[in-house]
Amino acid sequence: MKAWEANIRKVVPYVPGEQPKKDRMIKLNTNENPYGPAPGVKAAAEHMDLERLRLYPDPTADLLVSALAERYGLNKDQIFVGVGSDDVLAMAFLTFFNSDKPILFPDITYSFYSVWADLYRIPYKRPALDEQFRIRKEDYDQENGGVIFPNPNAPTSLALGIRDVEDIIARNQDVIVIVDEAYIDFGGESALPLIEKYDNLLVVQTFSKSRSMAGMRIGYAMGNPVLIKAMNDVKYSFNSYTMNLPSLILGTEAVKDEAYFQETVGKIKETRERAKERLTRLGFTYPEPSANFIFATRPGTDAKTLFEALKEESIYVRYFDAPRISQYLRITIGTDEQMEAFFRFLEHYLNC
Ligand code: PMP
Repeated sequence: MKAWEANIRKVVPYVPGEQPKKDRMIKLNTNENPYGPAPGVKAAAEHMDLERLRLYPDPTADLLVSALAERYGLNKDQIFVGVGSDDVLAMAFLTFFNSDKPILFPDITYSFYSVWADLYRIPYKRPALDEQFRIRKEDYDQENGGVIFPNPNAPTSLALGIRDVEDIIARNQDVIVIVDEAYIDFGGESALPLIEKYDNLLVVQTFSKSRSMAGMRIGYAMGNPVLIKAMNDVKYSFNSYTMNLPSLILGTEAVKDEAYFQETVGKIKETRERAKERLTRLGFTYPEPSANFIFATRPGTDAKTLFEALKEESIYVRYFDAPRISQYLRITIGTDEQMEAFFRFLEHYLNC
């Protein structure tokens, strides 16, 4: 071993879902939105003045922050934007989780949390979800250096009621509580109004799911101005220009088109309801989904074998070879046509 190898930071990286390069496939594996971005986004992209790329973008991302402030009825100093919510969450970990005490997040949750904690050397504990995959709020009553959980949770799709969310925030007022609301537009109640009541609350959302812009990479955090300034100070100590010009312009257009947003989210929720019924008829069970995916299992059917069989047919869903969830598949809600093809295969596979 070379001497310098001892000083390499060793991390086990997060493994994102597969992005196969196939023309014809049904991609229900990374919780993307099956509909395109809002028409205004496409129009703005076509008319973008590329000469402007000569200049650095606005480091304060004012255009986008202003649009979000208007949409959510907040002041600009209550909003932080970043390169997808992954970037926002990574900045939040770096900014807020600096105690010697462990941070807390569920045993079954977004698998990036433990990766950031390891990267930044933050100790952590993972209270177990109950048998029905519910967060037990009492588990968050112990001493800790911070709390983070998604609502709805991933990959379970299960939402925690707002009263329980508030309880967790209220009982942890000495630390920062981050509620990761990547999927909140599809179900569950947002904790956003609570930022006026609790100065220790940070709510994080994304353009990747309900705004159909995973490829653009935009995420945002909302909280009191002290938290937002602290995050910006860390950001400016890391990379001042996180938001490129296209993401500022196109992200702003996405926020402006409320009607398209409501329409596409509505369609996905309707398709989810139909998918639930059909899964039930085929003998699957699942926690009540509130996100744009269903976490389903079927007694007597091996999840990994089914996952592989679907893949053979170019139908991609997500499988996690992890304790407690290795017999589940996470199925993103696609268009009605995509779901039809998925179910046709299932019926054939299960001989139903
Ligand atoms: N939080 C949760 C719970 C997620 O599932 C995801 C999607 N992988 C993210 C955050 C990050 O999404 P993005 O960086 O695309 O905003």
